[in-house]
Amino acid sequence: DALISQIAAGEVVERPASVERELLDNALDAGATQITVRLLAGGVRLISVEDDGAGIARDELPIALKRHATSKIASLAELEAVGTMGFRGEALAAIASVGELTLISRTADAAEAWSIDAASGEMRPAARAVGTTVEVRELFFSTPARRKFLKTDATELAHCLEAVRRHALSRPDVGFAVWHEGRLIEQWRSWRDLEPLRAHERRIADVLGEDFLAQSVAVDHRAGPLRVWGRAGVPDAARSRADGQFAFVNGRFVRDKVIAHAARSAYEDVLHGQRQPVYVLHLEIDPTRVDVNVHPTKIEVRFRDGREVHQAVRHAIENALATPRA
Ligand code: ADP
Ligand code: MG
Repeated sequence: DALISQIAAGEVVERPASVERELLDNALDAGATQITVRLLAGGVRLISVEDDGAGIARDELPIALKRHATSKIASLAELEAVGTMGFRGEALAAIASVGELTLISRTADAAEAWSIDAASGEMRPAARAVGTTVEVRELFFSTPARRKFLKTDATELAHCLEAVRRHALSRPDVGFAVWHEGRLIEQWRSWRDLEPLRAHERRIADVLGEDFLAQSVAVDHRAGPLRVWGRAGVPDAARSRADGQFAFVNGRFVRDKVIAHAARSAYEDVLHGQRQPVYVLHLEIDPTRVDVNVHPTKIEVRFRDGREVHQAVRHAIENALATPRA
C-alpha cells in the first residue's frame, strides 16, 4: 500500500507547488475566507497552509489521511458534476507518502484543536482557532531520486507563487498571504464586500498589477449553456507580459489547448501572431459538459463539445477587443 501511495503520489506530486495546490484546494473546499501559506526553501523544507475553514473533527483526522477517503463525493453520479476542487480523496495520502505531513485542525464545536502526525498516526491536543493547518516537511526526503529533480529554491518558490496566484485570481472573496523564510512576500486582502465583477477586477490588479487592469478590456459573452467572462489585455499590454494566460473552468484553473487556441485566434489579427495574448478568462459551463476527471492534478479538462467552447471563447475576446475602450 505504501508503494501504491508513492506511485499515486508521482502523478499528483511533482514538486512543492503541486503539494501547495492540493492544500489550497482543500482549504477552499472547507470554506476558508483567509489562507496563509508559509514556505521554507521554496517549499522543499516546509509547505504550511493554514485556513479558517470548517476544520476536521478529531475522529476524522486519521480518515482524512487514508487513500480514497474523501468527504466530498458519495456516488459516481456526483463525480459527473463535481462542485468541489478535490474529489479523489488521494491528495493527503499521496503527499504523506513523499513528505512528513502533520494535520492540525479544530472544528467550531470542539473545545480544542488536535494534531495528527501522518507517519506515526500519533494524535495530540494542540492550540489553534477553528480551521486547519497542514504542514508538509522535507518533500521527497526519502526518495532522493525524486528530490534530485527539484530545481533551485528560487524556481520552486516561483512555481509555488504561481499556484497561489491562480487560486487568488479565481477567489477574490478569499484573503491570501504568503510567507517565505519568515518574510511576508505577498498579501492580498479579501474583496468579499464588493460585488463579484468589481472584486475580480481588484484581485487582478492585486495579482497582475494595476497596469494589467488598466490595459485590459472586460470580456462578457454568453453562448447557449456557456458564459465566458473576465479581462483581455489590449495589444500593448500583451507586449509587456508573456506569462499572463489564466483560464478557469467553473472556478478551477486549467491549462487547455482549446481555450488557448481560441484566444490566440482572436488575437491573431490584432497582434499579427507576433505576441502572446494576455487574459484572465472564466468559463462557466454546465458541469456535465466538461470532464474534470481526466488528469490526477485536475489541471486538464475535456469538453464534451470542444467546438462550442472554441467559438464562445473566440467570440468573447473578439467582441471585447472590438469594443472601443471607455
Ligand atoms: P479530497 O480533497 O479529494 O477529498 P484529500 O486527500 O485532499 O481528498 O483530503 C481528504 C479529506 O480530508 C477531505 O475530503 C476533507 O474531508 C479533509 N480535509 C483535507 N484538508 C482539509 C481542510 N483544509 N479543511 C477541512 N477538511 C480537510
Ligand atoms: Mg483535496
